[in-house]
Amino acid sequence: MTFTPLGGGREIGANSYIFSLNGKKILIDAGRHPVKEGYDSLPELDMIDDIDVIIISHSHYDHISSLPYISTIWPKAPVLMAQENKGLALRILQNSVEVMKKKNEEDGEQPVLYNHGEVNELKRRIFAMEYFQRYTIDDTIEVALYPAGHVMGAASIYLEYNGHRILYSGDFSLSQQLTIPPAQPPLKVDTLISEGTYGSKENQLIARFSEIERLSKSIKRILENKGRVLLPVFALGRGQETIYMLMGLMERGKIPTVPIYTNGMVASISNLYMNNYERISDKDRKWFMQNFLKMVTVAPKNIERLLFSSEPAVFVFSAGMLAEETLSYIFAREMLQSERDGIFFMGYQSPESDGYRVLQAHKDGKKQITLGEETINMRCENIDIFNFSGHADYQELLEFPRRLEPEKLIYVHGDEAALENLAEELQYEFQIEIPANLQTVEL
Ligand SMILES: [Zn+2]
Repeated sequence: MTFTPLGGGREIGANSYIFSLNGKKILIDAGRHPVKEGYDSLPELDMIDDIDVIIISHSHYDHISSLPYISTIWPKAPVLMAQENKGLALRILQNSVEVMKKKNEEDGEQPVLYNHGEVNELKRRIFAMEYFQRYTIDDTIEVALYPAGHVMGAASIYLEYNGHRILYSGDFSLSQQLTIPPAQPPLKVDTLISEGTYGSKENQLIARFSEIERLSKSIKRILENKGRVLLPVFALGRGQETIYMLMGLMERGKIPTVPIYTNGMVASISNLYMNNYERISDKDRKWFMQNFLKMVTVAPKNIERLLFSSEPAVFVFSAGMLAEETLSYIFAREMLQSERDGIFFMGYQSPESDGYRVLQAHKDGKKQITLGEETINMRCENIDIFNFSGHADYQELLEFPRRLEPEKLIYVHGDEAALENLAEELQYEFQIEIPANLQTVEL
């Protein structure tokens, strides 16, 4: 029994891991690197000669975005994922095709790694699983999915072979979010493979309600001063949580009622939330749906008027870290030049991202920043980051293995320093490994 990262070892990268159990090769997650482009963004597939089964934890880009590429090479491998994740996965992958095609048309260099047809092919290969239900692979390996919190459809992946119980946490959260209940992992395992995004000590989750309070005060101040607010979000997860929160704040009079604009991708995923998400109450779902129709407008294709409008409004746009040429990026570039507007990041910013660079430039009191090829004057003083992560915070990352009491603890999916910090903290309690990519661990 072995475990090897193909991406996401000692990094947040193209998360993808391979298990070898009883001669079977089981691939867990098939992401792409959040910052790298083209073939460089794929996991390290060269050493893989065969894949028998693919299991996907959730539909974030860094966990799913190379799935059609990999599945086209190994078409016989069934793709397992949670029932609630299936619609999301297909929607998000179709969108990835559009993004790659657009980039390819623009510079003629970016490869289109897969096409709509290859995403459609997945429909036949995806086997949708119910949470908590046990399934078997080849009569020898048991597999089950447990709710991981984090975002809709997210699962921790459980494998059992020859009495050895393994859990891959995936991205998880132990605390209640506005629309997402906490993770419900199994009671005990022998090997735990845990994410470690927030493994640095300073990442203590600030109580959600006090963060909402702080954000609402900032939004109120900008809107009352006739400014506009940009909240960059991930289309899946943070987008729905943010819209849910804004609608509640407006309904309770905590912030002025102004138009909320979002982009097509956030809206279409919100729609899937409302129709397929079984883990929020009917009452909440109905409230979300009715208010969404009343209060949220999808930004028009021609954005010029909205971009240069001076009407107070809140923009909930992806991408969350200002990936180039996304709506959040285009609006940030404009709003950075306005004293009245505000840009509030909603969670983790990777050090290589433009979101991180904007925050850093603001902190350093810089008056100019270069985004893409353009250098712009930063007149905007209202730039801040709020911690609304759907990830386990530092305390939860320590609590998780203490609850599940594994013999062996493997950390992946985090900066090297963060993972080493966790390992140091728990070194007397568990046998810990932090494999790099292509480094195999015996289980
Ligand atoms: Zn995620």
